[in-house]
Parts: sequence; C-alpha cells; structure tokens
Amino acid sequence: MQEIKKFLPLSRPTISKETIDEVVNVLKSGWLATGPLTQKFETELSHYYAERKVACFTSATAGLQAALMAIGIKPGDEVITTPMTFVCTANVIAMLGAKPVFVDIDRNTFNIDENKIEAACTEKTKAIMPVHYAGLPVNLDVIYQIAKNKNLRVIEDAAHAVGSSYKGRKIGTFGDIQVFSFHPIKNMTSGEGGCVVLDNENEYKTLGLQRFHGIDRSIWDRFSKKGNSSYDVVIPGFKSNMSDIQAAIGLHQLSEVEDMNAKRRHLAERYREAFADMDDKFAMQAQPNYEYIHSGHLFPICLRDGDKRDKLMSYLKENMIGALAYYAPVHLFSYYQKEFGYKKGDFPETEYVGDRIICLPLYVDLSEDEQDYVIDKVRDFFN
Ligand SMILES: *Cc1c(COP(=O)(O)O)cnc(C)c1O
Repeated sequence: MQEIKKFLPLSRPTISKETIDEVVNVLKSGWLATGPLTQKFETELSHYYAERKVACFTSATAGLQAALMAIGIKPGDEVITTPMTFVCTANVIAMLGAKPVFVDIDRNTFNIDENKIEAACTEKTKAIMPVHYAGLPVNLDVIYQIAKNKNLRVIEDAAHAVGSSYKGRKIGTFGDIQVFSFHPIKNMTSGEGGCVVLDNENEYKTLGLQRFHGIDRSIWDRFSKKGNSSYDVVIPGFKSNMSDIQAAIGLHQLSEVEDMNAKRRHLAERYREAFADMDDKFAMQAQPNYEYIHSGHLFPICLRDGDKRDKLMSYLKENMIGALAYYAPVHLFSYYQKEFGYKKGDFPETEYVGDRIICLPLYVDLSEDEQDYVIDKVRDFFN
C-alpha cells in the first residue's frame, strides 16, 4: 500500500493564481472596504442566481441573522429547523429571542424529514429554515407547499449548496430566500463571507441597512467623487458588510465553482464505487428519488456500529487523514437544553446519525492517489 507524506485534511480551498493577483491589485488600489468589487461580485452572483437580488455579508451567519430580521422574526416567534446542522443555523434564531423548533431528520438522507414539519407548526411558527445537508437538496416542493398552506416564510440555509439543484433548477434561482456561505471550507470561498438571495425589494433594502450601521447610503458612494457625505441612520444596524478583498477572491471562485464542483462530484462518485460493498459497515448519504444535483460539499458516511465511530476517527488521524463528525446534534448543546428544554431522546434519528457520522476528505485538490489511500485506510479499519 502506498504511503502518504502530508496530512490530508477534511477540506482545503483551491485558490488560483488569478485570484491571488486580483487580491494584490485590491491591496494596491487604495480601497479595501466595500466598494466596486463587492458590487461586481453581487452582480455576478445575481447572474448566477437567475438575476435575483443578492446581498453579500461577512459570513452566512450574518446573512442568516439579517434575513430573519428582514422578514420580521421577533421574540416569541418560532422558526422550524434541523438539529443536524452547524450550530449557527439555530443560534441566529435564538439570538433574535425566537425559538428554534427542531424537526428530526431522515436517517438515510441526513436532511430534515419534510413529513414531520407540519406537526411541528404552531400559531407562533413564522418560518422554516431547512439545510441542504452536505449539498443534497431537501425536498423543497413539500416544504414550500407547507409554507404556502400555513403562510410561512422559507429561508434555505444553503451553506453547502452552491451549485446544487433540485428538479432541474439551481438552488438560489427560485423559492423564497437562500443564504450561501463562502467560508473557506465551502464549495467556493471569499476568505470569509456569505450572501443572501431574495426577490423582495423592501427586504433587500433592509439587508443593506442591517449590514452597515443602518446607514441609508453606501460608504463607497460617500467617499467617491460623486459622493455626498451626509447620511441618515434609520435602524441600529450591524457591521457585517463584505470587503473588496473578500469580493476579489469570491469573484474568481464564482467563475471556477462549476468546474470545482464537477471535480468534487467525480471524487464523491469514486468514494461511492469504492464503498459499494461496505453497506453492512456503513451507509452513504441516500439518493432521493426526485431529480437533483448534489454539490459534493461533504462526503458523509454513517457507521452501522456507533461504538466504532471514535475509533475510526482516531485510526484515520493516526494515518494522517482528517475526518470530522459533522454534526453534533444542536439540541444537545447545553444552551439549547437549558434555554429551550431540549433533551436526549427528543430527536432519535438525529441522535442516531450524530453518534455515527463521519465526513471524509473531499476537496478539489485531493488527488485520486490520495483518495485511494483514504479508501484503503477506511477499508483496512473494518477488515
Ligand atoms: C458553514 C455553515 C454556515 C455558516 O457559514 P459562515 O459563512 O461560516 O457563517 C451555516 N450553515 C451551515 C449548515 C454551515 O455549514
């Protein structure tokens, strides 16, 4: 068996020379904050997302929170989401004084179980926040039908879903509101960053205020030649505007993301083929029977025997392979237990998966030789 000399992380970004040159140009330009490149990035993102409105933020977390505020979520409201997510999905709900109402997942797809959403709705429910876990789109038709019947908003946490599509339509080109992440671990990056995609003009304006002190005109306009330096403050906003340094990275990544995703999907397919005979040891993410394209963001496996999970993690680490147990169920974090009364046993499918899941290395620059090494080590562990 081949040996490996460098640590193979769970993920790492691929940054082209053009991207690096562009960042250097920004640094030399004299304008580093939100400016022409951020505007250009938003325009390009808008083209990518069917000409819908796009607002960039310093992170998807900031975008999710601003989106919840823009649709009017307030203390006492309830927002439905999945406990199998990165904690920020629920944190942003809690930070607004609203209650994250978790709905259990499907243990085969690891996505929220759309058939359990309706039963979780109450008079206080205002929105549903599904997560396209690992890049596999949730069953949006069912979710949007529930939202329509009950007059709820939908904010898709699409942090994993840049380039995913559902029934022939790219995530972000249709529906209510989508939030994408450009954190370096995601399918495309801007260093840190994220964006909100939406249609409503007033909500779009609110996002613009929220990310910049509640000031009613852009800072670039104020400093540029044509600018007028007076401004009004109409709400108490945050400071979560994207910088032109980030936008410079994001612009190039956006032009490369389809090719990068093709590479990810190719590697994911190789894992699937290599593990086709391992079904008694672990499950791979189920493939729903609706038409979809997976972004290839993560490659999770769910061990049949939960006692082996941490042993496999250590075994991989000893062998220079990074793997992560994504995610620890959110409802079991102490804050969520104390504040909202969640406890072990509330979401058995999520807890089952949470005890058994491991994500294997998957990134554009993972060579097939390196991937074969990961495959061999995973197989070795079970033999
Ligand atoms: C990464 C991630 C986020 C947050 O993205 P940031 O840009 O880091 O704020 C939100 N939701 C999910 C599911 C994520 O994986």
